[in-house]
Amino acid sequence: MTRRPFVCGNWKMNTNAAEAEALAKAVRSEIGEGEDVDVAVAPPFTNLDRVAHALGDSSLRLAAQDVHWEAKGAFTGAVSIDMLEALCVTSVIIGHSERRSLFGETDADCRRKVDAVLGRELQVILCVGESLEQREASQTLEVVGRQLEAGLEGVQDDQVPRVVVAYEPVWAIGTGKTASPDQAQEVHAFLRGRLAARFGPEPAAGIRLQYGGSVKPGNARELFAQPDIDGGLIGGAALKAADFAAIVAAARS
Ligand code: PEP
Repeated sequence: MTRRPFVCGNWKMNTNAAEAEALAKAVRSEIGEGEDVDVAVAPPFTNLDRVAHALGDSSLRLAAQDVHWEAKGAFTGAVSIDMLEALCVTSVIIGHSERRSLFGETDADCRRKVDAVLGRELQVILCVGESLEQREASQTLEVVGRQLEAGLEGVQDDQVPRVVVAYEPVWAIGTGKTASPDQAQEVHAFLRGRLAARFGPEPAAGIRLQYGGSVKPGNARELFAQPDIDGGLIGGAALKAADFAAIVAAARS
């Protein structure tokens, strides 16, 4: 099965409103209309509206970096799916390692968020990945397998086409160290096997698996050429329109 590559830029806690608008416009003009690759950007919540307007009617999509599973109420600081949908968000990143390690997000939280996102016709990007300590203790597959199964526990068969999984080794995020194409492919193949056991081989063959962790214009092509790597979740390099566009170009087959 051929899977349409998907590249998403995670801007994290970077850009004020004016900077976000300028970056979105630059990304739009650098990338143009991609018929053969899905591209999204995930600005901070406060800049979603400005970025939505800057992206306009282009094919570039808007993603959010997180969401709360509850629809509304006394959850100070949280943002609901309704709020995101009203701003034209189509994808939500769940379980990024920074949410897990800095904000104490658990596998159970991720599951609630995944269920809420998929319950509302949006796409989910579920992040999984091991720490350096876990890799050195040969626990990589056990860790990512547990995160995957817990996060996707409540997913119904008809929701599978809206599931994207991002493998992001924690030791490679923002460190300049990238997993080698072989290391990344090994984990991606394992994840696809687990998805096949959970949802069946055919649905699993259609699920996009992104790689994330210090992807740059210079290493993207080799990573994306691996059979089970279907694009990337890009942090630092997504803040420079030219670099992000070069990474998107690498995902075009
Ligand atoms: C990320 O945070 O999702 C990420 C992959 O960051 P970077 O590309 O900077 O390593």
